[in-house]
Amino acid sequence: MSDDICRTDYSTDIVVIGAGAVGLFSVFACGMLKFHCHVIDTLESIGGQLTTLYPEKPIFDIPGHPYILAADLISKLKEQTVPFHPTFHLGQRVEQLQSQPTGHFLVTTVKGTRIICRAVIIAAGVGAFIPNKPPVSGLEFFEGKSVFYGIRRREDFIGKRILIAGGGDSAVDWALSLLDIASRVIVIHRRSKFRAAPNNALRLQQLAQAGRLDLVVPYHLHSLEGRDGQLKAVIVTTLDGKRKRLETDVLVSFFGLAQELGPIRKWGLVLDRNNVVINQETCMTSNNGIFAAGDIAIYPGKLKLLLTGFAEAARAAHSAHAFIYPDQALHFEHSTTTGVPTLKSE
Ligand SMILES: Cc1cc2nc3c(=O)[nH]c(=O)nc-3n(C[C@H](O)[C@H](O)[C@H](O)COP(=O)(O)OP(=O)(O)OC[C@H]3O[C@@H](n4cnc5c(N)ncnc54)[C@H](O)[C@@H]3O)c2cc1C
Repeated sequence: MSDDICRTDYSTDIVVIGAGAVGLFSVFACGMLKFHCHVIDTLESIGGQLTTLYPEKPIFDIPGHPYILAADLISKLKEQTVPFHPTFHLGQRVEQLQSQPTGHFLVTTVKGTRIICRAVIIAAGVGAFIPNKPPVSGLEFFEGKSVFYGIRRREDFIGKRILIAGGGDSAVDWALSLLDIASRVIVIHRRSKFRAAPNNALRLQQLAQAGRLDLVVPYHLHSLEGRDGQLKAVIVTTLDGKRKRLETDVLVSFFGLAQELGPIRKWGLVLDRNNVVINQETCMTSNNGIFAAGDIAIYPGKLKLLLTGFAEAARAAHSAHAFIYPDQALHFEHSTTTGVPTLKSE
């Protein structure tokens, strides 16, 4: 084994880049062929566009579901991966994808997680979701310690004074959710009106009137106070320059998300604008052993639909099998014949 392989954190069959609907179904499709997967996503939670952009919208064109809420479809897809014990690495963007002399691939994330694998499925949608950051200087000194752009584990915030910035659903939902475990919740928003679901926005106002939380509106974030990554206070201002100093342990900013192809551009794959070109017959990219499925994958006549992405995931898993075991014929069988194999956890 090369030094690179010895120094990796994990070794697995297949790395799936993207934990959206198609990435989750890729885990199932690979699991049915007895492949273990590690799944990586920039976001702190699974679901890609469905949970980030339209969790409460009904989808009408999933076969067998006259309609299903986007968030419910993601829950079902997650449930379908359970027998295969995938390992999720959330909150980290894949930066590098390198072929190894051994024929393996080395996948490296922004947090330095290194995974060696035998094939890769890129299910990266229209690119990584990147949080829009507030225009406040010095944020980088606090990020990941006391400034966050999402919440993965509610328990990390027990007993803390939490300042939430933003006026949409995420800001309001998390303010309501953290209220019973935080020592204090402050919500700051640049407008007096919130853009969240009306019931939740009303509840927020009622709780503020009852003194259960502080609403600081219409205020902007101005600057941060603290040292060694630990916030002490956040200074906020109105448009006409009125200032407040809000003592807090944590700032969680929900200023929306942008999507960008980012590092995928540098992986040496043939691209067509913001998409990775695949051979529709195999779902292989221009690089042997690297496959793509879902919105990221392009070929003539592509329909950017979930059902197309699911079919591509199944195709990619079968092609990965042929790539990993070139000498083994894979006898095609339906799930009604095989059942769902259970893999041991890695
Ligand atoms: C409002 C709206 C309504 C829609 N309605 C329908 C519908 O009714 N029916 C239908 O079939 N389709 C619908 N679609 C389209 C459907 O949502 C997409 O086809 C589907 O989400 C694609 O799934 P995906 O897994 O390929 O990509 P995504 O859901 O975009 O997931 C990709 C994931 O990859 C991650 N990622 C990207 N790059 C990296 C990286 N470098 N490192 C780590 N992670 C990375 C991203 O953070 C993201 O979470 C709709 C889309 C929108 C926006």
